[in-house]
Amino acid sequence: MVRDRPTYPFEPVQVSHKLDQNENPYDFPEALKAEATRRMLSRAWNRYPDLYATRLREAVARYEGWDAAGVVLTPGSNVLIKMLTELAGLGQTVLTTSPTFAVYPSEATLLEAKLVQVPLRSNFSLDVPALKAALHTETSGLLALAQPHAPTGYLDRPQDVQELVEEAEACGWVTLLDEAYHQYAGRDYRELVRGHPHALSLRTFSKAWGLAGLRLGYLLTSPQLAAQVYKVVPAFNIGVLSECALEVALEHPDYVQRRVQETVRERERVLAALAGHPTLEVFGSAGNFFMVRAADAGALHSYLLGQSIAVRPQKGVPGLEHILRVSLGSPESNDALLAALLAWR
Ligand SMILES: *Cc1c(COP(=O)(O)O)cnc(C)c1O
Repeated sequence: MVRDRPTYPFEPVQVSHKLDQNENPYDFPEALKAEATRRMLSRAWNRYPDLYATRLREAVARYEGWDAAGVVLTPGSNVLIKMLTELAGLGQTVLTTSPTFAVYPSEATLLEAKLVQVPLRSNFSLDVPALKAALHTETSGLLALAQPHAPTGYLDRPQDVQELVEEAEACGWVTLLDEAYHQYAGRDYRELVRGHPHALSLRTFSKAWGLAGLRLGYLLTSPQLAAQVYKVVPAFNIGVLSECALEVALEHPDYVQRRVQETVRERERVLAALAGHPTLEVFGSAGNFFMVRAADAGALHSYLLGQSIAVRPQKGVPGLEHILRVSLGSPESNDALLAALLAWR
């Protein structure tokens, strides 16, 4: 029941170093913002936008080398998770890992789907045999996996992911591969999804593209599955202002790769500096974030806040006790983080 559900576990704070939402530390380039604004001024705001963002879907399809009929564009990719859970339908199952991205279980419980969570192995990799067993024993529905995994940052072996996608398809499941962070991993599942009509790749403009404020995300899937998803997508859901900005971003995507490379360099620098810390356990990551385990994560969280650094506690997440999730920021923010963590005992 909605009434009994907890609210989204996030408290906004005002700090100098915001490392709690895995955002891009760099804003959309100034010149592109100016161009987007010019287009906004030239558009009619009194008219409804495209029914299903046809032109933008075509631009996304060109960028991804995909059939536009298999692209679903929505205001943020989180709403796609809601729609896919809806499509999985009443009496069906949402199968994911534990821990997992918080939105999958919260949507599943909200829509009263059966939620099945298979624990990750102790190194945070997928437990393939246990997931395959669940695909066989549970009523089919949606298998939701993030690659790189959220919130651990773990990147599984491609053959494990492929094996699960194939098993899921054979058992009548739809597989959602959440690729919110794929740019930082240097690996993605576009080709696997292309070969499997019951698989979907979920992507977002919120992370590597630095456009979290616009709220835009999309699916790449087969035209057949996209047609089903469109039955639950509200009409006119992308406004003309977002359309102008995304159009410009897709015409000038080069900035994305440069920033991703910078973040990956920063990730490796920060992880190397923290290796061998006397009291903190730091986990490797393929994303723009990483996890830190402390004897008292609450105390470390408050200490960092005291230095105007916000990170994300994983309080109450089974398997992530004593862990904080830290986003990579600008080099200055990362320096502030390193100075604070290196002084921590
Ligand atoms: C950030 C994130 C998303 C993107 O959400 P948006 O609604 O598109 O901003 C999706 N999946 C995971 C795992 C994420 O961390």
